[in-house]
Amino acid sequence: MKIGVLALQGAVAEHMRSLEAAGAEAVAVKQTQQLEELDGLVIPGGESTTIGKLMRKYGFMDAVRQFSGQGKPLFGTCAGLIILADQIEGQEEAHLGVMDMVVARNAFGRQRESFETDLPVKGIEEPVRAVFIRAPLIKEVGEGVDVLSTYNGEIVTARQGHLLASSYHPELTDDYSLHAYFVNMVKEAAANR
Ligand code: GLN
Repeated sequence: MKIGVLALQGAVAEHMRSLEAAGAEAVAVKQTQQLEELDGLVIPGGESTTIGKLMRKYGFMDAVRQFSGQGKPLFGTCAGLIILADQIEGQEEAHLGVMDMVVARNAFGRQRESFETDLPVKGIEEPVRAVFIRAPLIKEVGEGVDVLSTYNGEIVTARQGHLLASSYHPELTDDYSLHAYFVNMVKEAAANR
């Protein structure tokens, strides 16, 4: 499977390393034309307003919506999760707006800006090592969204069909189990296309 990592801003190399560890071929995506040869796409963490601005500037909004419309999987981590959401608390406009959920940015407050934890995730055998950095939370999900994990009662991993989102950075550790889960989603989607 050939999986892209949107390389406009954020933790790109780390995602590529984790995808390759999970058995996929990883590609840094800087131009919309590259999407054509890909089976799935990761939208990394960073700063969602910056990533959103650059996506608009380089034509990625429509291109990625089209990509997703073909049933090709997307995985958004941290800022990437905010990019996927169709509603952002306190903001008028969403970015891609493809995933049926309401998210809150920087939702852990100042004292807990960054921390690491072992997080049980539905569908993955061992807990996932998760790094939270000024992380968003999923406040509400629509009917078609499956909650895969919570932390202190708040939703931090969710899946809607071919869309996967995590509040945290799974790419900043040696644990690539969530990437392996995504690679599987990409394989399944490719088999059904
Ligand atoms: N706080 C960032 C935002 O709101 C996300 C942080 C991250 O991706 N680590 O976009």
